[in-house]
Amino acid sequence: MKRYKVGIIGATGMVGQRLITLLHNHPWFEISLLAASKSSAGKPYEEAVLGRWMMATPLPEPIKPMMVVDAAEKQRIADAVDFIFCAVSLPRKETRALEEAFAKLGLPVISNNSACRMVDDVPMIIPEINADHARLIKAQKKRLGTDRGFIVVKPNCSIQSYVPALHALMDFHPSALNVCTYQAVSGAGRTLATWPEMNANVIPFIGGEEEKSEQEPSKVWGQLSAEEDSVIASHFPRISAQCLRVPVEDGHLAAVSVEFENPPTREEILSRWANFRTLPQELKLPSAPDPFLIYTEEDNRPQPALDAEAGNGMAITIGRLREDPLMDWRFVCLSHNTLRGAAGGSVLTAELLCAQGYITHKI
Ligand code: NAP
Repeated sequence: MKRYKVGIIGATGMVGQRLITLLHNHPWFEISLLAASKSSAGKPYEEAVLGRWMMATPLPEPIKPMMVVDAAEKQRIADAVDFIFCAVSLPRKETRALEEAFAKLGLPVISNNSACRMVDDVPMIIPEINADHARLIKAQKKRLGTDRGFIVVKPNCSIQSYVPALHALMDFHPSALNVCTYQAVSGAGRTLATWPEMNANVIPFIGGEEEKSEQEPSKVWGQLSAEEDSVIASHFPRISAQCLRVPVEDGHLAAVSVEFENPPTREEILSRWANFRTLPQELKLPSAPDPFLIYTEEDNRPQPALDAEAGNGMAITIGRLREDPLMDWRFVCLSHNTLRGAAGGSVLTAELLCAQGYITHKI
């Protein structure tokens, strides 16, 4: 198979580094360009990340000498690749302007950033849940005046464990959800070594995270409008979220209590989780975990240290299913925040968009 030429914008950051580890041996994609801010531009990648390569695996040899390009050189980037992944730490307005500029130059943009998530015609996709939202791309291209470029985003890392776990139970109509997340330091682009305040400590505030955790699921679970130019948000379940930063390197844990209109039995819940397979698994996309949802019976699981890497960091591990004295059921679930929740989720989304014909080779 002819591989797609791929660029990574924000290649030197936490998510960019993860993207490199996932893409350097990818069967469909070939890393052709690395871009970051002006301070990294013009340097070989190895020099640009000197002293800040945060991955457990070594920097791949072919990547070391690649020259980092200034992300402001948009036309040069658009000429060099079939599509880009974008993960930059910039203010919202600048991020949206950057992503729209690339789309208008004819590039599909697979974004890890939050700036465009709530834009009406931008699909926010978890491939196992709402692959059909990609149909918004047609209306978005019309708005942006492009025939090839568009933006697709993945939702926030905090929602990637409990939304899939609940999605498998949707026909029991969950009506209210109380969730508390325990989020790893890599979610802030940091490590425990570079964030001493986090050692033996918990910080009960992550700016903007509770709002995203409550609002983004309603778009993911929403229905396309008749014109297929926006998503009609789902009003159920109502969600109350509290998000805490904990001294863990990788893996966001969520403790969930949920109320249903038609409460399922324990057997029904376990059976839905065990049999949850959707489009990415049916299409056998290279990054699709199978199984996607893994239930573990041990009382002390899931744990970030033991379970975050399940399914190459793309599966969700669920445990401790038990009745809830206030609502109906409660459980604990876990996803790897920089794999399923960021870089891996966006790679799987790109695979889906290639398989659906939204991303094509330029030549
Ligand atoms: P990060 O480690 O701080 O990296 C930020 C990247 O943005 C670096 O490559 C940096 O390049 C680049 N950058 C900064 N200013 C730029 C500019 N003016 N033009 C082009 N590139 C610029 O951040 P991160 O954790 O990877 O997060 C990146 C994005 O992904 C954010 O929007 C974040 O919210 C989102 N996200 C992160 C996670 C996670 O788990 N970390 C999860 C989901 C979503 P230099 O090195 O040259 O400064």
